[in-house]
Amino acid sequence: MAPATTRIKMYFQYTPGFAVLGVTAIIAAAMAFTSWLRCSTPAQTTFTLLMVSVSGYATVAALESAAIALPNKIFWSTLEYVFSGAGMTFLLIFAIYFTSDQEWLTFRQVVWLWIIPVFDVILVATNKWHKLVWTGFLPGASGSNLIVYQHGPGFFWVMFWVYVYVFAGSSLLFKAAIKPSMVYRRQAGSVLIGCTAPLIASTLYMLNLAPPGLNITPMSFLVTGLAFSDSLFRFRLFDVVPIARDTLIESMSDGVLVLDVRNRIVDLNPAAQSLIGTTTKCVGQPIAVVLAQHPNILRVCYQNKNDQVEIQLAQAMVDLEIKQLRDRYGRFSGRLIVLRDITQRYQAEIELRKVNERLHSQLLAIEGLQAQLREQVIRDKLTGLLNRRYFDEVVPKELARALNGGYSVALIMLDIDYFKKINDTFGHKAGDDVLQAFGPLLLSQVRTGDIACRMGGEEFVLVLPSVSLERAYQLAEKIRLAFQALKVKTEDREIYSTISGGIAMFPTNGTTEDELLQAADQALYNAKGAGRNCIKIRT
Ligand code: GH3
Ligand code: MG
Ligand code: MG
Repeated sequence: MAPATTRIKMYFQYTPGFAVLGVTAIIAAAMAFTSWLRCSTPAQTTFTLLMVSVSGYATVAALESAAIALPNKIFWSTLEYVFSGAGMTFLLIFAIYFTSDQEWLTFRQVVWLWIIPVFDVILVATNKWHKLVWTGFLPGASGSNLIVYQHGPGFFWVMFWVYVYVFAGSSLLFKAAIKPSMVYRRQAGSVLIGCTAPLIASTLYMLNLAPPGLNITPMSFLVTGLAFSDSLFRFRLFDVVPIARDTLIESMSDGVLVLDVRNRIVDLNPAAQSLIGTTTKCVGQPIAVVLAQHPNILRVCYQNKNDQVEIQLAQAMVDLEIKQLRDRYGRFSGRLIVLRDITQRYQAEIELRKVNERLHSQLLAIEGLQAQLREQVIRDKLTGLLNRRYFDEVVPKELARALNGGYSVALIMLDIDYFKKINDTFGHKAGDDVLQAFGPLLLSQVRTGDIACRMGGEEFVLVLPSVSLERAYQLAEKIRLAFQALKVKTEDREIYSTISGGIAMFPTNGTTEDELLQAADQALYNAKGAGRNCIKIRT
């Protein structure tokens, strides 16, 4: 029996394609291993499997390139379809995981995705019976260990599905890559290269533009892997960012809306949807259409400045913050709108305002009551004049002011004559009527600033600041004459009465309230003594 190395030499012959594809297989295997070490998400796991498929694909392509016998070459070629089918399927699954919120695909979805690749492998494996994939095999240039596969409709069917899968996966990834997030944007280039490489390679292979004998499709998948690894290692994009972005933006209680330069919606989260009252994602639609119900938001959006305003929507009060987005060259590239639901805070503020208003009106009522109470305390109910309590409280201050100001104060004490007789003759009620009539008479004769008090019984005092003795006497006389002429109507008769008065001057006849009262009382006593119905001055 021949030794193993001899046997290998019988089956395989070294070719440049073998070397290139072998290296591809090793790099892909290394990437699969590195990715496997950090497997944490469905996207990352699928990426590992994609790289395993690429490595397998490159391995069998290398063996096909080195195989000598035609049946062996066909065997390895068949296996190529197993790995390329797996590669394209894992690329699509990876794209789905990477761009959607889905945790894992369901069993049914996975079965659907694998139907075509499995069918393709069966088609290739059974070629010798139907010759739909390869119609024949021609020897390559002499000594090149190459064969030329002649392709039938089955081959183009398989290629059609490679295009569909890779294109679908690329579209998903590219759509994610051009999302407004900066992290995604930075990946746009590498993702685009990674996705388009297998499409370009298989097109070149199909059009026979690839180097003869070298299957560049597995190498193109390696480009995909390398391009994605850039994201994988530098930004941990596959495992962190999609989840972080989704968790953060999608679950935010604040509404987030991103507009492009033409005011079309690029992205919006569920909170924004519910605040503006739309059930669809409405991505790509102009805000003029989506926000037609909210002219107040539109107005803010059309302003060319950053702004923050409070806006009343149908269901909620929102705090709207709008920011202009600029690229790194400072060019305007869209707008970011954040809508914060402040209904609760707003209602609390309104409630607080109402409570404040209620408190304020209660305070006014209390102040009114206090004033009323004070009136009751200082005013005599029967005559409407001020009372003795007020006199005692205010007159000492008035005298102090007069002392400071250097002016005189006149004090007139008035007493109704024979009042007891009125009571006795006409009754207490008639006496009250006389008192009640005298109050307004007194008030009508004094100025604002003068003090008119009922000191008790039928005794009254006027305090007149800055009034001379002469003026005081004239006023007292005037009051006396007016009262004398006053006709007080009681139930069935008219009562006429008179008053006597005594005048004392501050500071001449006294400097304190008591001294002045005593002096005026003395003058009044003199008036009574002089026959009543007259005014006497304290001498
Ligand atoms: P004279 O001229 O000397 O002042 O005599 P007079 O009767 O006015 O003085 P006197 O002090 O003897 O009487 C005062 C009376 O006034 C006694 C009291 O019953 C009466 N009187 C005091 N307060 C009231 C009141 O509020 N209503 C009525 N109707 N009478 C009052
Ligand atoms: Mg009297
Ligand atoms: Mg009296």
